[in-house]
Amino acid sequence: MSTTTTTPVEHSGVPTALPTRLRHFIDGRHVDSLDGATFEVCAPASNLPYATAAAGKAADVDAAVAAARRAFTAGPWPHLPAKDRARVLNRIADEVERRDARLAELETFDTGLPITQALGQAQRAAENFRFFADLIVGQTDEAYQVPGRQLNYVNRRPIGVAGLITPWNTPFMLESWKLAPALASGCTVVLKPAEFTPLSASLWADILTEAGLPQGVFNLVGGIGEEAGAALVEHPDVPLISFTGETTTGRTIFGSAARHLKGLSMELGGKSPVIVFADADLDEAIDAALFGVFSLNGERCTAGSRILVQRAVYDEFVERFAARAERIVVGPPQDPATEVGALVHPEHYERVLAYVETGRREARLVAGGTRPAHLPVGNYLAPTVFCDVPADARIFQEEIFGPVVALTPFTDEAEAIELANAVPYGLAGYVWTNDLRRAHRVAHSVESGMVWINSHNVRDLRTPFGGIKASGLGHEGGYRSIDFYTSQQAVHVAMAPLHTARFGAA
Ligand code: NAD
Repeated sequence: MSTTTTTPVEHSGVPTALPTRLRHFIDGRHVDSLDGATFEVCAPASNLPYATAAAGKAADVDAAVAAARRAFTAGPWPHLPAKDRARVLNRIADEVERRDARLAELETFDTGLPITQALGQAQRAAENFRFFADLIVGQTDEAYQVPGRQLNYVNRRPIGVAGLITPWNTPFMLESWKLAPALASGCTVVLKPAEFTPLSASLWADILTEAGLPQGVFNLVGGIGEEAGAALVEHPDVPLISFTGETTTGRTIFGSAARHLKGLSMELGGKSPVIVFADADLDEAIDAALFGVFSLNGERCTAGSRILVQRAVYDEFVERFAARAERIVVGPPQDPATEVGALVHPEHYERVLAYVETGRREARLVAGGTRPAHLPVGNYLAPTVFCDVPADARIFQEEIFGPVVALTPFTDEAEAIELANAVPYGLAGYVWTNDLRRAHRVAHSVESGMVWINSHNVRDLRTPFGGIKASGLGHEGGYRSIDFYTSQQAVHVAMAPLHTARFGAA
């Protein structure tokens, strides 16, 4: 077993048989750190420690990479026919679905996400595996003929050991978003999950083993980013890193990876605009904007955290939006009625509260801004709405990553686009209007990797996912993910005797 279990009584909403000791998983075995180091993990609704987790260092990462490398060079996984890998991926999806309630329960306890939303994320994780199982079976590659002379084709190969580094918001789902395409492609992996939320990741080992993934293909090293994560990025036998996290961390990783010229996929931070024109369906726009910024506790990379509203409907929008925000149910994450739960960690909570204080100086507070009175313990913040936020305000420019939103008026289309693009980030954008031509025009002008028209973030898994500007490098999603985890060797075959200039033959 991976863990020992007890049930600490001080916590409320504590899952039964809660793991209290989280270990690495290397070469098919649950192991402690070589130096025995651990760190404490807390539950966000109480801030009480509930488990110790193994704190990996370079030596643990070395062992995990060596196992993954062996599984890649000597094991069957990279060479299996796609349909056989797909069969395993589908079984992984089955296992995830079978455990979705347990996954949601643990994820909620560890992250503070509302249980209903954590359940949706577990189901999305299963979908990721099914999607990439289908995609890899349908994978085709190019071939070109020069009639009678040459045949050229692409020999696609998995790149090797993939290093996967993931954040604490929706941890299990985001791990699946990397694991599924990496495994589908035939790579072997070392996963380094976020230190704030290691609990759900501890279920992968059993899920993947039961689904029939060969030993050594999946390895997990827990630990602190600057130690375990950095060691993975620095490792010479890891040719590619898929990273999701903060822009500042992305910059550090980019710098370290440069020396080894590693393949990098970077999904970074966001400060995405929601642009609401006066002709939009305001009922729908308000529903979507509220959900877009306050679901997942506002700890969502694609959150529409800046809402730009045309002046003709601005006052009405502010009033209705703030009134609804005030009525959002903030409560214990495990309560199915809860809409906003507890922020992940006291450090992050303090950071978000500091932004709220900054916002009070920069703009007008119209909802929230404080801890709800009925929740004296835990990292709770009432959904917080600032209006009349100027474009140079910090709460307009910087990613807060909590239930805090900035509302700003605009006069015309040109000003809306200028405001939308006036930040360093470029992850997502949302445009609300019933004018067809304007909808496309504005969508095309928003500097972002993704944009939705009259919708919140509903994403088909085939579409490209990623940001531009400070929000990321490279796109994953659909076959782009397979492209990232594979190399494409061009094979050129002569089909007739060559006419070669005969150097040295004269
Ligand atoms: P983070 O950058 O602090 O940590 C992410 C991961 O990187 C963690 O596993 C951490 O341990 C590791 N890490 C930290 N320092 C490292 C280093 N020097 N070398 C290697 N690894 C290191 O991010 P976070 O606070 O966990 O997550 C929140 C951020 O993630 C937000 O900015 C959010 O927008 C972003 N995010 C982006 C997307 C996207 O798809 N664009 C999705 C989810 C979250």
